[in-house]
Amino acid sequence: MQVPKTHPRYESLMKREKIIEALDKGILAKAGLIAHGRGEMFDYLIGERTIPPALKAIEAAAATLILSKNPVISVNGNTVALAIEDTVELAKELNGKIEVNLFYRTKERELAIKNVFEEKFGNDIKEGKITILGIDDATEQIPNLDSLRGKVSKEGIFSADVVLVPLEDGDRAEALVNMGKKVIAIDLNPLSRTSKKSTITIVDELTRALPLLIKYVREFKRKNREDLLKIVEDFNNKKNLKETVEYIAERLKKLEFE
Ligand code: ATP
Ligand code: MG
Repeated sequence: MQVPKTHPRYESLMKREKIIEALDKGILAKAGLIAHGRGEMFDYLIGERTIPPALKAIEAAAATLILSKNPVISVNGNTVALAIEDTVELAKELNGKIEVNLFYRTKERELAIKNVFEEKFGNDIKEGKITILGIDDATEQIPNLDSLRGKVSKEGIFSADVVLVPLEDGDRAEALVNMGKKVIAIDLNPLSRTSKKSTITIVDELTRALPLLIKYVREFKRKNREDLLKIVEDFNNKKNLKETVEYIAERLKKLEFE
């Protein structure tokens, strides 16, 4: 479909096109469409912009990622569909590790995702700037999750100290936290289990949050360890989620309908 740039909902319609294309290519499970729709709804509530509590969470996430020893970016179909470029750019600022971690894991979908990375970023993979994990090497198991959803790579999520998970499901976020990992989620729904269980939740749309996260990671690399630790220590996820919900409530109360 050709979406005219002048359309008032151009950005949103383009994202839908990308999601549909990913479904057709076998990258996205059907349930990924529903997850996207739920996200769109919450984006209306926050006003389709990065709100102040999200910016605070992005800063805490950037500091946490720089301080981490072995961070991994976990990707699913939605993330690949909407933000593969930014995911790779962020990975390159870190240790390059990206793990494919699907809720509805099938060999076909894993390979379809692997193909997209190889087509678009074959050189980065060859040069070792990024590593795509979780496809042929998902041999380890996250405790307390069923076998398919809990499969992870030993080099990747299994041994990671920090896992960035855009659009994770609540059970898995909780299981990762129980393994002693710091979980950074990007999730538009401040009420989801994922948001509540994660160490740091960025309540923002993926394609708005990732460029900001990259910017802060670059900037914060110049800060010293103490300053970074302070940013992390000053962040409280429950408090931040509360501020997010209060922001939404205030915004809705002030809305005028002419
Ligand atoms: P819970 O976390 O409570 O277990 P869930 O993970 O099962 O819920 P889903 O609908 O499967 O719920 O998860 C998708 C989540 O991703 C939703 O909370 C939705 O708001 C969020 N989401 C969808 N698209 C985006 C996006 N583009 N950017 C950020 N978040 C998104
Ligand atoms: Mg979730």
